Amino acid sequence: MSDSHPELSKQANLNTPLTVLRGVGPNLQRKLSRLKLHTIEDLLYFLPYRYEDRRQLLHISQVKVSTTVQFLGKILSADEVRNGRGRKKVFEMLVSDGSGQILLKWFHYRHEWMKQRYRKGQQLLVVGEVHQFKGRYEILHPELELCSDGNIPIENLRILPVYPLTEGISQKQMRKLCQQVALEYSSCVVTAIPQHIIKRRGLLTLADSLVKLHIPPSDSEIEQLQSGRDVARKTVVFDEFFYLQLGLALRRLGAQFKQGIAFKVNHLYTKPLVDMLPFKLTQAQRSVLSQIKHDMMSEQQMNRLVQGDVGSGKTIVALLACLIAVENKTQAAVVAPTAILAEQHFQQFNHWLSQLGLSAALLTGATTSAERQHILRQLSEGTLDVLVGTHALLQPDVVFHCLGLGIIDEQHRFGVQQRNDLRKKGENADILVMTATPIPRTLSMTVYGDLSLSVIDQLPPGRTPIKTRVVSTGKRSAVLDFVKRELDKGYQGYFVYPLVEESERSDLKAATDSLDTLQRDLGNNYRLGLLHGRLRPHEKEAVMQQFKQHQIDLLVATTVIEVGIDVPNASLMIVEHAERFGLAQLHQLRGRVGRGSAKSYCILVHSDQCGQEGMQRLQVMENNSDGFKIAEADLAQRGPGEFLGTKQAGMVNFKVANLISDGYLLEMARQDAFELVEQPNFIKDKKYKLLLQILHQRWDTRLELANVG
Ligand code: ADP
Ligand code: MG
Repeated sequence: MSDSHPELSKQANLNTPLTVLRGVGPNLQRKLSRLKLHTIEDLLYFLPYRYEDRRQLLHISQVKVSTTVQFLGKILSADEVRNGRGRKKVFEMLVSDGSGQILLKWFHYRHEWMKQRYRKGQQLLVVGEVHQFKGRYEILHPELELCSDGNIPIENLRILPVYPLTEGISQKQMRKLCQQVALEYSSCVVTAIPQHIIKRRGLLTLADSLVKLHIPPSDSEIEQLQSGRDVARKTVVFDEFFYLQLGLALRRLGAQFKQGIAFKVNHLYTKPLVDMLPFKLTQAQRSVLSQIKHDMMSEQQMNRLVQGDVGSGKTIVALLACLIAVENKTQAAVVAPTAILAEQHFQQFNHWLSQLGLSAALLTGATTSAERQHILRQLSEGTLDVLVGTHALLQPDVVFHCLGLGIIDEQHRFGVQQRNDLRKKGENADILVMTATPIPRTLSMTVYGDLSLSVIDQLPPGRTPIKTRVVSTGKRSAVLDFVKRELDKGYQGYFVYPLVEESERSDLKAATDSLDTLQRDLGNNYRLGLLHGRLRPHEKEAVMQQFKQHQIDLLVATTVIEVGIDVPNASLMIVEHAERFGLAQLHQLRGRVGRGSAKSYCILVHSDQCGQEGMQRLQVMENNSDGFKIAEADLAQRGPGEFLGTKQAGMVNFKVANLISDGYLLEMARQDAFELVEQPNFIKDKKYKLLLQILHQRWDTRLELANVG
């Protein structure tokens, strides 16, 4: 930026490679890079994972077994001895401080070096854990510090940081480096969170905090440091969260400022549809719908996320929202992540829309070019009311006559970019995002932080809960017997295999092999179908159609059936190698059954390599049917990056902050940031120029701030 704030120039020093530090050559640099430490900034934010209290110096007479102690002593003897009767040698050192004696022992050592370095009469600072052996106190492999002139090196009597290490770097070395960086470079860190916020939250300056975390003063509260609740760490975490929330707040604000379409609700189509439905909307569906209506009627653009567990009935809510758009003589678009889902939505939508005398079309990668031309013409002329499709719908030549509402289904498969692309297909079209992947609050405040949130927190009545069982692969034949019995009753089922890379040939083979094996084991009475990632969209659709029409009894599939598939007659979900799936994914899979009146079952088959931990994970599925509870457990187990998947992982890449344990700070940062941007003239106020520049530096690409608008 040409008129970049002068303060920002200091920051350049932080991007310097670590070789500028004393004692860091190419060799150490290589080792540090294994810890993802490349620049000064990396090291500055490389915080200790715990601290050791080395403030106390004991007398040898005071030491207790099983505690870590620190004392000063004089070497009485130091030499190699035979270990008992064995041939193994041990290096032993006897030290005394006048109050008592203690034996230090090494099993691994370099003899020459030890002999050279440690001699009788020398003063030592000794740190280690005390053990009792044959009635005597001893310390194995203690840390030693020579005090040549009898003076204790004062920097040892402190709270010492302990860092994660890699081979070839010692704790001492790492401490020295971090100390150097903290002292010499912390002042280059630039942040500009307004003082009133720092005060309100009782925080320190960012630079002081980084210094304190690397070099804790002796009067620090060690428990606070250990628990991560020290104000210094809070400051660093708050700083990270604040900028994220500021970015989200601005994005939200940007959207709010934009003139949207003020729709009118005249019930021209919505009422007839509700009358036609074979069921009554649930209370939850109605309340979410009224939130959507409220947004659509307002002059500001709608940006709303609807979360609802699988089967909570989001589709009908989406359809009703589309009808409001159509009642106002605008068009609606629905984007789904896969061709199968788009097809399915289209079928459902078209079923109702045609009865209302409205028109709908489906646009996917498989649409023929003649069809496509026809659709595009209708679309631009305004004779098409609702367009359902995949990514194909976002291509530049797809031009609407007047897009009023854009809906994105299963948002977690899409990025922010697609949301913007869709919005730009209209003139400030309202945007509705739907997801069946429940997301814990801390995460939704992050990835969907710029959206208003609605939750369909109720399932339609009359659903029988799905019975879930975790079984080992040794029970396979019993499982297959059970499958046969259910299929014999006329029900259908899914048989899911995890494939590491859907696109790989070997996986394709695995899928076909599984099908063959299964067919052999079940016998030829049953019709099996195969659905996998290598199939072309129209092939997938063909298989799905066969399954829907019950020409297939058991659908052997990879995770492509994960989201949204709705076949009420399917009552069985068998997942092989269940331990390889995330819990949220398993929940999605399970949501494919239990959609009809039949009693439904989900059998999670784990392999022998599953392990205790894996079993416990799967048991979460046995004991819970609530998607939110499962999501919490999944997030805790896998961490935010994995939980979200690659598309959105960038938004949760914090240097220090932890979305799970630091959630309370995220709430605070959000409140403060949203309040701040609501100040009149916030964007233009000179006072906040630096703050905004830092925001852009830190989050431009990750938040796609440049695309806002
Ligand atoms: P999801 O939220 O997973 O997308 P769907 O919209 O596919 O759920 O709905 C699941 C099933 O529940 C569909 O067969 C749908 O027709 C039915 N359904 C939706 N709303 C209700 C309701 N209020 N009462 C009864 N059934 C409903
Ligand atoms: Mg759905």
